[in-house]
Amino acid sequence: MTIYAAPLRDMRFVTHEVFEAANTLTALPGYEEASEDLIDAVLEECAKLCEGVLAPLNQSGDEEGCAFENGEVTTPKGFKEAYRQYADGGWCGLTASPDYGGQGLPETLQYLVDEMVGSANLSFGLYPSLTQGTIVCLSVHGTDEQKTHYIPKLVSGDWQGTMCLTEPHAGSDLGLLRTKAEPNDDGSYAITGTKIFISAGEHDMVENFVHLVLARLPDAPAGSRGISMFLVPKFIAKEDGSICDRNAVAAGSIEHKMGMKASVTCVMNFDGARGWLIGKEHKGLAGIFTMMNKERLFVGSQGISLAETAYQNAVAYAKDRMQGRAADGPKQPEKAADPILVHPDIRNKLLFSRAIVEAERALAIWTQLKVDVAKAHVDPAVREHAEDMEALMTPIIKSACADFGTEIANSCLQVFGGHGYISEWGMEQLVRDVRITQIYEGTNTIQALDLVGRKLGLHDGRLFDGFMNEVAQSLQPLEGRNDMVEFVVPFKEALDRLSATTEWLKEQAHDDPNALGGAANDYLRLFALTAFAWMWVQMANKALSRRNGSDQFYETKLQVARYFMTRVLPGTISLEAFVKSGAAELMAVAEDSF
Ligand SMILES: Cc1cc2nc3c(=O)[nH]c(=O)nc-3n(C[C@H](O)[C@H](O)[C@H](O)COP(=O)(O)OP(=O)(O)OC[C@H]3O[C@@H](n4cnc5c(N)ncnc54)[C@H](O)[C@@H]3O)c2cc1C
Repeated sequence: MTIYAAPLRDMRFVTHEVFEAANTLTALPGYEEASEDLIDAVLEECAKLCEGVLAPLNQSGDEEGCAFENGEVTTPKGFKEAYRQYADGGWCGLTASPDYGGQGLPETLQYLVDEMVGSANLSFGLYPSLTQGTIVCLSVHGTDEQKTHYIPKLVSGDWQGTMCLTEPHAGSDLGLLRTKAEPNDDGSYAITGTKIFISAGEHDMVENFVHLVLARLPDAPAGSRGISMFLVPKFIAKEDGSICDRNAVAAGSIEHKMGMKASVTCVMNFDGARGWLIGKEHKGLAGIFTMMNKERLFVGSQGISLAETAYQNAVAYAKDRMQGRAADGPKQPEKAADPILVHPDIRNKLLFSRAIVEAERALAIWTQLKVDVAKAHVDPAVREHAEDMEALMTPIIKSACADFGTEIANSCLQVFGGHGYISEWGMEQLVRDVRITQIYEGTNTIQALDLVGRKLGLHDGRLFDGFMNEVAQSLQPLEGRNDMVEFVVPFKEALDRLSATTEWLKEQAHDDPNALGGAANDYLRLFALTAFAWMWVQMANKALSRRNGSDQFYETKLQVARYFMTRVLPGTISLEAFVKSGAAELMAVAEDSF
């Protein structure tokens, strides 16, 4: 079984010391209460829940999985009770408006909670995340009546929210979807169709379900411009919230899958089910993006979560496992061998994991602060810049953290040698569980295409320029600082590479229709590593100002920052070359020759 201890010290370092988040948050209308003390209290409570309740269910949940019988889903032993504890603790409505029973806390805090929950039990975390995404979507697009009717029950965790988009023939290309919505006489719609791969579509932990379903009206234009969003409850509730009529929506089966076995994935059949339009006709794709963007950042947090757990377990194993001798002489001569931690390659695997995870956490917190500022700041210009940064970083965080999460889980399994491959240790579960993060919520390639094809060009390049300006401003106070040279110089070189590659990409996009598709994934990783380097510059700067000789924490921060600059960031050199190699070789091979 894997171990997990919430990395509270690191979370506090980034949140309080590097970004001074409480200063930003308490200045925002509605978040005046979000002080350091309150943030710490929430973190400590969440850590207890994750370490004491959710982590112990991770392996048993994987072994038992979900069961399906007569349209009903049973979650693994202990999940129902854990979910009740989570819901009763108010965690489902952490960021929801107090008008509907929520706690009205910032998204920055939600990220920290999500990371811990995901580290403890990735499968468990997906259930409330979908409910939270549904709350956000209804808060933005629902009528007052819809909000009052549905949000409080989602906030209390009594009802589960889901996102019903995918169909057998329509995955990345949702414009192909066929589910129909025909108007009923009473203002509702009859929804008919089959959705596949629906997370949390049916289970035994809640009393009702609120499905957000994409479907087509009879007069809908073809493609993605003809999609509307509907709310389809499992049970149609009375105004007082008490449930009555069973709706014509049911799980047809559940998927047997590689990982996340305690998170149920359903085929959902809609057979003339009553649904209600959310938002405007034919604008459903834009509407569901409110939920998807939140979920995309959440999936990024899942990648970080799993990498953190994998790292913690690999470190414990590397200190314990005795094999071979240190190349520079025995470290424990009284024993037959040294711990494998003495070997440079094992250290490289552990340091790579740590350098990436800590940078990802910092970038995720920086981005979530932008989400809060975008939502609540009084100055429209500040809100606009924050929205830009959120939009720019969403595909990067989703995709890069999922990719690195998968790489790190694999590499940490390698630290265990053959024992990593054996179920008992729990490492192979981490590798299986994290793999989905590269696929769902839009595959990583779809994210990369969103970055190069949409985000870079949006508002005449305003998002990219806004990012570069904020970086430039942050570097100004570091000019002339000798103690920061070893961090700032390699970062600036990577920044120049990112700039040059971005310009190259824009020019190529005019000449070659395949240029963006050929470059997208490498470009996204180049951007991610450069953004991580920026995070390391800021963390190193803070560590230098806080080091006092007695606290090893800050010294280690500086060492890991150095590792990142010397052994990770140079990867941007080859990524620039990959991007600039263009798409010609990719497209040259004839279809028949594959
Ligand atoms: C466990 C699990 C849970 C899920 N949960 C949900 C859920 O709750 N709700 C929901 O609606 N869906 C859910 N999904 C569906 C998921 O979002 C889709 O699987 C995903 O969006 C990809 O769609 P697809 O599987 O049809 O792959 P396809 O779209 O067929 O893609 C196949 C491959 O082609 C690539 N590709 C496709 N189009 C392009 C393009 N234009 N350019 C370059 N490459 C391209 C993709 O990147 C991929 O590698 C879930 C899936 C799984 C496995």
